[in-house]
Amino acid sequence: MKLVTYSSGGAEWVGAVHDGALYDLAEVGAPGMMIELIEAGEEALAGVREALASPSGGRPLTEVQLLAPIPVPRRNVMCVGWNYAEHFEEGQGRRGPGGSDDMPEYPAFFTKLPTCVVGPGADVQLDPRISEKLDWEVELAVVIGVAGRDVSQERALDHVFGYSIANDVSVRDVQRRHGGQWFRGKSMDTHCPLGPWIVTRDEIADPQKLRLTCKVNGETKQAASTADMVFQIPRLIEELSRGTTLLPGDVILTGTPSGVGFARTPPEYLHPGDVMELEIEAIGVLSNPVVEYRG
Ligand code: MG
Repeated sequence: MKLVTYSSGGAEWVGAVHDGALYDLAEVGAPGMMIELIEAGEEALAGVREALASPSGGRPLTEVQLLAPIPVPRRNVMCVGWNYAEHFEEGQGRRGPGGSDDMPEYPAFFTKLPTCVVGPGADVQLDPRISEKLDWEVELAVVIGVAGRDVSQERALDHVFGYSIANDVSVRDVQRRHGGQWFRGKSMDTHCPLGPWIVTRDEIADPQKLRLTCKVNGETKQAASTADMVFQIPRLIEELSRGTTLLPGDVILTGTPSGVGFARTPPEYLHPGDVMELEIEAIGVLSNPVVEYRG
């Protein structure tokens, strides 16, 4: 199932997309917020699946504005740095203070504020008074469904609700100048596009076999497979849940492949008017324009 959050008539709704049509899930008795639907678990999903087996009352998806499937996550979005070997290599010598050129034994984690999240089509802000070094990063997003602490790799995928596409938009100079801590350059408003929907786990047989690409103004900048992750999803969940309870609705960004702007020769950054188009096989396309922020 493809599950969406959308805006219609000034309110926020949860729906399912089926054969290109949108179905309001409130009509089939499902919770009215995505986070509640995730928490309600498999039983609620089974009810939705049953209703969609003989769907009625659908309307064109184009009639509504899609929001991020989880418009404001309850906790910081958890992110992995350097999770594709080629991306690690392209950053050699450019990592700044604290950066090592040896591939780490453990994944590097950082977080983005929940308020960075925006939906498909939403503006990504570039504030030239702060920095012009705005960069793209296509990433597979994992949404946690079942709470868990000390989750083993063997059981990790049982805790996954579904998958989505994220853009870990980064302000590169700000990312590097705060003591080796990336939080500041990764957490500006609008810098975490997420969507266009969550594809439930049952529809993706192997999340480590998905092609992912990022185009800027139609030109391919990143193209890889989730098979190339250094730390695969079960390992990430194992590490993140060690002594820390993961909760339903938590969002994990699994790292980006090579081809980001700062590591290109010469470096390339985003400009107002640019359009980023991120695609992940079996999920869809997440597109966002860059706009100048004037305060
Ligand atoms: Mg990233």
